[in-house]
Amino acid sequence: MDMLESNFIGFEAAMVSTIPLCHTNQPDELIWPHNPNGEYLVKSGYKFLQLEEARSRPGQSDFENLKPLWQSIWSLSVSSKVKHLVWRAAKNSLLMKMSLVRRKVNADDCCEICQGQQEDVLHALYRCPKLEELRALNPLWNHSRLKQTTSFLDLIGSIFTENRESAFFSMANNCAGVGVAIRNGCGQVMVSLSQQIPLPSTVIEVEALAARRALILAQEIGFTRVVLEGDSQTLITALKTSSHTLAHFGHIAQDIRYLASSFSDVRYTHVRRQCNTVAHSLTRQAILSPFLQVWMEDVPPELADVLQVDFQSLD
Ligand SMILES: [Zn+2]
Repeated sequence: MDMLESNFIGFEAAMVSTIPLCHTNQPDELIWPHNPNGEYLVKSGYKFLQLEEARSRPGQSDFENLKPLWQSIWSLSVSSKVKHLVWRAAKNSLLMKMSLVRRKVNADDCCEICQGQQEDVLHALYRCPKLEELRALNPLWNHSRLKQTTSFLDLIGSIFTENRESAFFSMANNCAGVGVAIRNGCGQVMVSLSQQIPLPSTVIEVEALAARRALILAQEIGFTRVVLEGDSQTLITALKTSSHTLAHFGHIAQDIRYLASSFSDVRYTHVRRQCNTVAHSLTRQAILSPFLQVWMEDVPPELADVLQVDFQSLD
């Protein structure tokens, strides 16, 4: 961490520190983050540039695509004054110095408060260094993902996405949860685990880390033949193919393949999320407790009902 801090500025160092490390020796690679498989395509490059351009133009939002976001804003349980401010900020319709300069009303777009940067909506409501003290009151606001956002619309979109994915993530604590349940052929739980990990940048990375943790646990317990079930189709498909992937989670997938080579048989199966309730409940459990927890031939007592229902559904 010291080395990161001496080579990067604060928020960059924090972002780098959330990249999950691989356990095996792998060469560094350049990936294209705007394509799920990490490979550059002219089409996705073009799309990215178009999106960037659209973002820089005021009021160019695709209303249909953003409908769920507007609904989320209007259903917030805050006063209508606040909802209105958030809505206008997301629509980039608040009068800022940058827009005054664009309309040639004003010649100077420098923020009055910090006197250092251009005043646009994102700066005025989030980025201005003078807001540091307010942001420090709630760690949620200092998450590296929010710091990467390029517009207020992005920022508010990220916050709502995080809340939807809260089964995996707790942005307030900068952590994610991993839940693993190993069952025998009859569906009985042989061992279950819940573990908190530093918050990575995507859901699929959490899925990949959970799969790797599951195999490590199976190896520790001494199983030699396993079926690895997961509800991420992308991850399971990537694990089934032996070729290396440039996707975000590629290095973790490589670890999994390496681990799998020490088993006599590993199969990968995709299951629907509804069929993975025990693992998901363990994931939630992990967010609540900072300690690694393992239960032999059992699940945590709070999850007994979930297991019972799940077990009945196997019949
Ligand atoms: Zn400022």
